[in-house]
Amino acid sequence: MSEAAEPVPDTLQVPVDDAPRRHYELTDTGFDEVPVRWRRFYRHWQGPGDELAPNEVLCPVCKVVIRSRRELRPGDRVYCMPCMSRLVVARDPDGSLVARVVY
Ligand SMILES: [Zn+2]
Repeated sequence: MSEAAEPVPDTLQVPVDDAPRRHYELTDTGFDEVPVRWRRFYRHWQGPGDELAPNEVLCPVCKVVIRSRRELRPGDRVYCMPCMSRLVVARDPDGSLVARVVY
């Protein structure tokens, strides 16, 4: 007994330009302003010389680095627990990822 496979609806197909995202293993860097289970999602910003990884974005409100388990892309929503800001990831004219506050 066999049934024909259902065709995949268009809405479930990944757009061609949406390349697979890299995934990251997060480690606890000792950020102690949030409960233990959330610590690995944040780290202290080291200042202007601090280079952010593709899975990191700086909170414009409290200057804490928010880290994601996957590569961040413009349009992603992230939450800054230390200052309780809802943020959306955008790309600056210079190509770097920035977070903007969602009101
Ligand atoms: Zn913040």
